[in-house]
Amino acid sequence: MSDQLKISTIPLDSCCGCHMALVNLGTDLLDILAANVLVYSPVLMDKKSIQPCTVALVEGGVRNHENAEKLKELRQKADILIALGTCASFGGISGMGSAFTTLELLTNAYGADFSPEDLPVLEPRVTPIDAHVDVDYYIPGCPPPIGLLKETLSSLLAGEKPRRVDLPVCAECKRTVKKHLQPELKRLADNLPEPDECLLSQGFICLGSVSRCGCGAVCTHAGVPCRGCRGPIDRVFIEPTHGILHDLTRRISHFTGSKVADIESRLEDTLHTFYRYTLSVPEMRRKDAEQIHQLIWRIKV
Ligand code: SF4
Ligand code: SF4
Ligand code: SF4
Repeated sequence: MSDQLKISTIPLDSCCGCHMALVNLGTDLLDILAANVLVYSPVLMDKKSIQPCTVALVEGGVRNHENAEKLKELRQKADILIALGTCASFGGISGMGSAFTTLELLTNAYGADFSPEDLPVLEPRVTPIDAHVDVDYYIPGCPPPIGLLKETLSSLLAGEKPRRVDLPVCAECKRTVKKHLQPELKRLADNLPEPDECLLSQGFICLGSVSRCGCGAVCTHAGVPCRGCRGPIDRVFIEPTHGILHDLTRRISHFTGSKVADIESRLEDTLHTFYRYTLSVPEMRRKDAEQIHQLIWRIKV
């Protein structure tokens, strides 16, 4: 009994898809729960108060005061705190709302006659959980890849440090680049990709070269461009002259011979194509290489 670890899971501003990924571990999850104790998990069990625990898995970012309070209480009571999924790690899909004011969001959702007093008080924008508390490990993905989730949890529960993954999705992708003049940017709705060639070199917007691997490049192997659901690799975050849009447009230019400015002028819905999962990350919003504020300003006009 003494070797049993106490595990907590909590959803904040999220869709519970990361909890579904946990459930999808199937018999592996049953094995984990048989060997350890689930002490708090509003999605998986009926327990009202946050309990002291060894490992806490947090799904979702922080959108309102209640999210922030629960997160801080959990941090105080957990030895190890893990950001589970891309919303917790980077704000994720709901971070796309960061392009708008809370009034714009609420009016759009509830109409002009909504009563603010009936609703939770929203923060100005969604924030990743590490904007509020220290995070020990991250398992990004929307939802996190099952294999990586299992591997990371197994390491942690065995008292080992999980493997760190920082290669781009291209490192796991079997498609090969062909450099040829291809001035058109393509959409899947209108074009069928060649089976074995790199989707980016065919003109499809694939975020694989700037996104973190660990998913086995499942999307690109199925013929669907990577949308960056695992979030950016370190280089894109840390190095000031790199960024998602910056690196991708230069890569497309390299493949096609088109000028960067020409490529940028032909992109549609740049903000949500390139920052679908990362728009609320403070470091990304501040990056000079990306000029995100200019993009936000543009879509508000
Ligand atoms: S990361 Fe994706 S699956 Fe997980 S809570 Fe956010 S939107 Fe849902
Ligand atoms: S850009 Fe996309 S399709 Fe091309 S190698 Fe990288 S992940 Fe594969
Ligand atoms: S290929 Fe890209 S979008 Fe698909 S699971 Fe991997 S990181 Fe996510």
